[in-house]
Amino acid sequence: MNDGPTYGFDTLQIHAGAHPDPATGARQTPIYQTTAYVFRDAEHAAALFNLQEVGFIYSRLTNPTVAVLQERIATLEGGVGAVCCSSGHAAQIMALFPLMGPGKNIVASTRLYGGTVTQFSHTIKRFGWECKFVDFDDLDAVKAAIDDDTRAVFGEAIANPGGYIMDVRAIADVADDAGIPLIIDNTSATPFLCRPIELGATLVVHSTTKYLTGNGTVTGGCVVDSGTFDWSANDKFPSLSQPEPAYHGLKFHETFGNLAFTFHGIAIGLRDLGMTMNPQAAHYTLMGTETLSLRMERHVENAEKIAAWLEKHDAVEEVTYAGLKSSPYFKRVKKVCPRGAGALFTVRLKGGYDACVKMVNALEIFSHVANLGDARSLIIHSASTTHRQLTAEQQEAAGAGPSVVRLSIGTEDADDLIEDLDQALNKAGK
Ligand SMILES: *Cc1c(COP(=O)(O)O)cnc(C)c1O
Repeated sequence: MNDGPTYGFDTLQIHAGAHPDPATGARQTPIYQTTAYVFRDAEHAAALFNLQEVGFIYSRLTNPTVAVLQERIATLEGGVGAVCCSSGHAAQIMALFPLMGPGKNIVASTRLYGGTVTQFSHTIKRFGWECKFVDFDDLDAVKAAIDDDTRAVFGEAIANPGGYIMDVRAIADVADDAGIPLIIDNTSATPFLCRPIELGATLVVHSTTKYLTGNGTVTGGCVVDSGTFDWSANDKFPSLSQPEPAYHGLKFHETFGNLAFTFHGIAIGLRDLGMTMNPQAAHYTLMGTETLSLRMERHVENAEKIAAWLEKHDAVEEVTYAGLKSSPYFKRVKKVCPRGAGALFTVRLKGGYDACVKMVNALEIFSHVANLGDARSLIIHSASTTHRQLTAEQQEAAGAGPSVVRLSIGTEDADDLIEDLDQALNKAGK
């Protein structure tokens, strides 16, 4: 199929990147369960290794099933290319790797997935990288945090766990003025609800583990490149603009133009970091993308209904859902994610920590798991789990204090979910 820009989202989520299998005519994308690919001859092999010809060499780098998923996600996000990898956390490292070096830093939002706060506060220090966490609602603070060694700005469009909405356009303008890329984690929003590239983001990362797969079967990640950033405009990004010693002095930007970041991600990132997505995982995620818009519409419809109901419940102190008029982020929904504020939010219980624990234990339809974006409704007490490694101050800044639970609203019957929440809240008491 010609993936022309004239097709709508519902068409692209099924067809983008896919073609009937040339060998068999198979209509569904086959799972190419192979490690290697036979070269036509020695010249062909050399041309592939020199990146003079695009083709398949070895599945750590490229695989036809994974390639279909890469093209599909890139198309849905409006990017020029994408690289899939083994998890969302792998995608974050893959996105930062070409930009960073020892002594360089990133500026990131305080409102992030707990695992990302940990990765950025501790683990990246081993590479000599640093992260400065800033409240992204304070644009002056973001500007002030950027210095000569800053190489990227990082935030979540709809932030885990509170469902807070970032003013992507405003932060993109700040990054632009500083000559550095904005990286958006679009996991919680998905390209159906939010299109960060249209709002000025350079790169988009995903945990495909979540809504893109949508059924809780496999972990995966993806880095999408907008193709709009000029890596040669300043001397901050030598891996892309200067001769790359890890690839016999190839200049990626000069050679591949707006595909430089994607080619670097495969030729250096996957080759040397090895955070590869396997073709089985790509298959499950491809199946998920086919119904993405249908699921997201239902996720949002259910979340709006349930958040409004929860807000009125006696046992509830606060619901953070940005789709509620009471949310300070409500006015950003139209601007950032016009099809809805997602299906992820936190609920603060009047009964505090004890009530949270009782509620989690009493729920029957909701599963108590460390995941989100499943068709199933999920709940977790973030402070004792996903945000456990954070300090009390970091937990509050992230919206994951001890008296809140995080809900990921699924696509079940909303009335059944409300009934389940009601019985659990009544058991949890005030
Ligand atoms: C889950 C998640 C991640 C990490 O992804 P994994 O696939 O679990 O590695 C990153 N960001 C957000 C917003 C997430 O929800």
